[in-house]
Amino acid sequence: MNLEKIAIVDTHTHLFPTRGVGKRVLEKIKKTYGVPYYCTGSPEELTETMKKAGVTYAVVMNQAAANKEAMNWLVSGNFFVCAYARKHPELLPAIGLDKGMKRNPLEEINHKLKWGVQAVKLHPVAQEFYVNDRTMFPIYQKCEKVNLPIIFHCGKMMIEGLPGYAHPELFSDVLKSFPKLRVVLAHLGGGFWKEVIKLADTFPETVYFDTAIALSGASIPSFLSLTDTQAVEMIRKIGVQRVMFGSDFPWINPKNDIERIKKLHLTDNEKRMILSENAKKFFGIQ
Ligand SMILES: [Zn+2]
Repeated sequence: MNLEKIAIVDTHTHLFPTRGVGKRVLEKIKKTYGVPYYCTGSPEELTETMKKAGVTYAVVMNQAAANKEAMNWLVSGNFFVCAYARKHPELLPAIGLDKGMKRNPLEEINHKLKWGVQAVKLHPVAQEFYVNDRTMFPIYQKCEKVNLPIIFHCGKMMIEGLPGYAHPELFSDVLKSFPKLRVVLAHLGGGFWKEVIKLADTFPETVYFDTAIALSGASIPSFLSLTDTQAVEMIRKIGVQRVMFGSDFPWINPKNDIERIKKLHLTDNEKRMILSENAKKFFGIQ
């Protein structure tokens, strides 16, 4: 099996329309959560990064946050990722939704389905809602109905002590209520390793996981990152067929994560599944 020839899918990237907009958002997040970034997440930087890292496809996300500026920008940002991806078939757009956005979230889903949206991205910590908040259920119900997967931030953030908006246990409530809803839990559970393995066991069909941050190594706080041995154990316990590579560009350069995954003590077939096949199946990439 030649790992050099596979079409790598990065299932977790954030895209901003220009360097200026990206920098503004990233600086704000850096100030609030202390997270450094690797570049400003503009389309040019994404293209360049994908080329250098050998990434063929990427899920490009726009996401909401609980502040006025982000909320005002949300609908335009969704339009931007969808319109940009329409011209770039290697990109799969994911939109942000929030109860406080300028368009009804259910209408927004209908509108963006026409624009080829592939997923919804929700960040309970940044948006300040608990995953099992009943007022979010209409959004989940709609996504289940139209078979639109939701990529959720799952777990802790870079600084500890924030409310547990995205604790794995809260997801079981949602998954029970929407048994056909397809969900990706980001960051392999973001620090709640044991809890996430239990969740994966309970819901073997519809829940997938991405590796973003969890495999990014040295610059990440230790409570969010796995050692090589832990990573292999974690991936196999969850089930390798449900784990997809994601980087969290522009905070992380996917190149480093890909190199690390290639070096893990997994079989070549397992690596091919994580870097390419699982995501191709999940997102229906031909
Ligand atoms: Zn992210």
